[in-house]
Amino acid sequence: MNKLDTSLVAVALQQAGFTQTSKITEAGVVLINTCSVRQHAEDRVFSHLGHLKHLKESRPEIIVAVIGCMAQRLGKELLDHEAVDIVCGPAQITQIPELIGQALANKTKTLVVTEKIRKKPPTDEANSLDEFEFCYDRVDDRIPAQAYVRVMRGCNKFCTYCVVPYVRGQEISRPPNAIIEQIKKLADQGAKQITLLGQTVNSYKYNAGDKSYSLADILEMASDIEPVKWLRFITSYPADFDEAILHAVAGLPKLCPYLHVPAQSGSDKILNAMNRHYTSGEYLALLERARRIVPNIAIAGDFIVGFPGESDEDFQATADLVKQAQYKNCFVFKYSPRPGTGADKKLTDTVPLDVKKQRNTALLEIQNEISEKYNKSFLGQTLEIMVEGLSKKPHLNKAENNHPQLVGRTATDYIVVFNGPEILAGEFAKVKITKTSPLTLFGEIV
Ligand code: SAH
Ligand code: SF4
Repeated sequence: MNKLDTSLVAVALQQAGFTQTSKITEAGVVLINTCSVRQHAEDRVFSHLGHLKHLKESRPEIIVAVIGCMAQRLGKELLDHEAVDIVCGPAQITQIPELIGQALANKTKTLVVTEKIRKKPPTDEANSLDEFEFCYDRVDDRIPAQAYVRVMRGCNKFCTYCVVPYVRGQEISRPPNAIIEQIKKLADQGAKQITLLGQTVNSYKYNAGDKSYSLADILEMASDIEPVKWLRFITSYPADFDEAILHAVAGLPKLCPYLHVPAQSGSDKILNAMNRHYTSGEYLALLERARRIVPNIAIAGDFIVGFPGESDEDFQATADLVKQAQYKNCFVFKYSPRPGTGADKKLTDTVPLDVKKQRNTALLEIQNEISEKYNKSFLGQTLEIMVEGLSKKPHLNKAENNHPQLVGRTATDYIVVFNGPEILAGEFAKVKITKTSPLTLFGEIV
């Protein structure tokens, strides 16, 4: 979601006549797009702002804008920071070029955020966001031929640990024609892989007269669009899972057999305290159904360790769930209390940091073994990947026959590293797997 917002703002600014630079010392305007999901992300922003404060001592003319969820959450507190000129919430990013123009001209501090974030936004705001999204969309600047398309904004689930409903507002599904037109436009610009985005993407629902559209309908409509070859959707919410989505994945060749469906915990007591609306048994039944309908499906999950009241027994239940779920990979986070959320208001952050760290490591160790087993099963096989570009780890980036090391992904989201010409970025390629590690497949281009 944040990568998409960053791209939209970057394109809007380029069209307004700005040029992007990777050197902060050259920049006249610095924008920081922010995340509030964990404290750590916010701490990093304050550390960047500390550096910018020093930079501004010698170059006071620089304009610094903080945009996104942290802007919405902290508002005035951020504006009071010496380094900050503009604070702009996620719903106001359409105003960024104008706000920067004003700040450059009169050097006044400006705050634009949503006052009552849980109130239904006015129709003109939703329309202007849709328009902004449509005007400034482009294929991902890091991965050629890949593009994100938002299908819904906000979230209504109120998981007790989560700040998203308080910074991104009410759940709103975009009209199907806006989504489809946008995919067509991106396809005309060369997008071959489209990733549909929503906080709970499977809850997508749009009523038009007496017709109601679900995510399965959107997937079906989108799968006719050429030259798009791969379609993905993230992230799914376990409790609203309509089987029609799984049948769409099974029946439509363009749909990648990949599901990111966070469990968060394996303990029913903790799931209840998290307000997740499912039990570990129901969650596992969903994975079983997914694998029955789409036999080659790869499944990824998220977990939070150290939620308030999580005992050794509760953690054991999570470890057991990870063993049973047999994920392709999973992301593990240490619980971070977020001000204003249900858990922070009603519960105490009881699990000590060293226990959170131990549980985090223990869960990843279990998962690594499972991931390694999956990865090894690909040895000798030839897999189709979409090439993303140069591999990001310079110490591994060894050239072979003058070809640099590249990275790509399979439709099932496995990361594949191989040597090849850089012009392959954004193309599909076939790679024979010759070596594996728990996180990566290595191979030779066929
Ligand atoms: N809408 C998505 C993702 C939300 S944030 C979903 O519902 O799956 C991404 C991940 O961050 C979550 O899945 C959760 O595992 C983690 N997360 C959210 N709030 C957190 C918190 N307060 N502390 C630690 N991890 C958190
Ligand atoms: Fe946060 Fe839960 Fe909504 Fe995901 S579903 S964004 S975790 S409140």
